[in-house]
Amino acid sequence: MTTSYEPVIGLEIHVQLSTKTKMFCACELSFGEQPNSRTCPVCLGMPGTLPVVNARAIDFGLLIGLALGSEIAPRSIFHRKNYFYPDLPKGYQISQFDIPLCLGGRLGEVAIHRVHLEEDAAKLTHQGTSGRINDADSSVVDFNRGGTPLVEIVTEPDIYSAAQAREWLTLLRTTLRQLGVSDVNMEEGSLRCDANISIRPVGETTLGTKTELKNMNSFRFIERGIDAEIARQVALVEAGQTVAQETLHFDPASGTLTSLRSKEDSHDYRYFPEPDLVPIVVTQAMLAQAHAALPELPAQRAQRFELDFALTAEIARMLAFRTELGDYFEAAVGSRDCDDPAAIASWVTGELVARLGDGDPGDSKVTPQALSKLVGLVSTKQLTSGAGKSVLDRLVADGGDPAAVMESEGLAAMDSGDELAEAVADAIAANPDAVAKLRDGKEQAIGALIGHVMRETKGRADGGEVTRLVREQLGL
Ligand code: ADP
Ligand code: MG
Ligand code: ZN
Repeated sequence: MTTSYEPVIGLEIHVQLSTKTKMFCACELSFGEQPNSRTCPVCLGMPGTLPVVNARAIDFGLLIGLALGSEIAPRSIFHRKNYFYPDLPKGYQISQFDIPLCLGGRLGEVAIHRVHLEEDAAKLTHQGTSGRINDADSSVVDFNRGGTPLVEIVTEPDIYSAAQAREWLTLLRTTLRQLGVSDVNMEEGSLRCDANISIRPVGETTLGTKTELKNMNSFRFIERGIDAEIARQVALVEAGQTVAQETLHFDPASGTLTSLRSKEDSHDYRYFPEPDLVPIVVTQAMLAQAHAALPELPAQRAQRFELDFALTAEIARMLAFRTELGDYFEAAVGSRDCDDPAAIASWVTGELVARLGDGDPGDSKVTPQALSKLVGLVSTKQLTSGAGKSVLDRLVADGGDPAAVMESEGLAAMDSGDELAEAVADAIAANPDAVAKLRDGKEQAIGALIGHVMRETKGRADGGEVTRLVREQLGL
């Protein structure tokens, strides 16, 4: 019998906060300005300068902690994390170590380990092809990013597949966006994710040796990278080898994993308390203000959708985890042109998303009211669902009113009159084989007859009604 393995994943997420200024100085955050124009002696690490904490960054950290259900430390401190690299002019990063701002928590089904504040490093660009600093090529540094406020969110090893990691990150991103604390854009680097991955035999409770996948810059790459790493680890173990603790880079173009460093090269950061900063003391007033500022979060919204509109958990989450879909759905329900919210939800998450992809339906030509009317026409059987999809195609392309499109395209559902009875009779005449099988008790054979009627009527016939008429005309 072969052993099967369970992957275990823990994520470390860095979030650039959208404050006006940097973490410890008054420089404004940069959005593509001239390199090194947003700098001052503090964020350039000049001797003799002193940092001052950005109060807004602490407020944002508190909002994130509350949204994740963390315990807020009444008093937390900063540490210096020492390492030597050109993106770090002071020779250390100011971060939090053993007493972070927020401890524990949970988002969705994933437990949170901690949330802490720190500063971002400068941006290094390597001009050679090696992608790293070496003797042959040159590298340039842009200090505009250095000192940008960051929150690091660390999960427990509580995620069990690459797909789950991706879905959870979507929830986290929507939650952070809803809080208004970050642009959460992976391509631009305001949301960055490292994944820690191990495997263990199913049923085993202790954790295996983990590897760390660094800095993947899209949700799709994260999912692919984790899957590739799980496969690599399983292959190693099945070949009788062991997984070595190391840091890896995933190249999405080739799908390969390369080692950046092994445990032996791992840094000793010589953490020590930052002597130039006072502790963060969170007052009751600060906490009360953060509580008051908390908006409805996606997880709560999903629950409300489930309860108020009788949606399945899956559809409620699809809507609530993409804020723009949730907003669109609520607008469509609110327009009161259709009293079946579950049907609206299913059209939004199914047909509309299939046509718009990642696009915001609020920016499309289909107004929430038009969608609601369309679903209403289908619910009341004035339009078959097949013809409804054709109407939706037209609305996506040109906008407009669904009833008007239905009329002008001649897509209105046929009532069960002579025309439909004739179409059924034609289908029976044209498909003697199917009729014979049907008489033999082979129920699936009716599909050919229904298909024939649908083709002839451009999908305007009601499937149930066609079935009824076929049986009636055949005397079955
Ligand atoms: P390190 O000291 O290497 O930074 P931590 O214990 O701080 O490791 O954990 C960092 C991240 O790795 C966390 O997200 C944690 O959930 C995850 N993690 C820790 N051990 C494992 C493991 N064996 N398998 C998968 N993830 C793990
Ligand atoms: Mg760590
Ligand atoms: Zn500065």
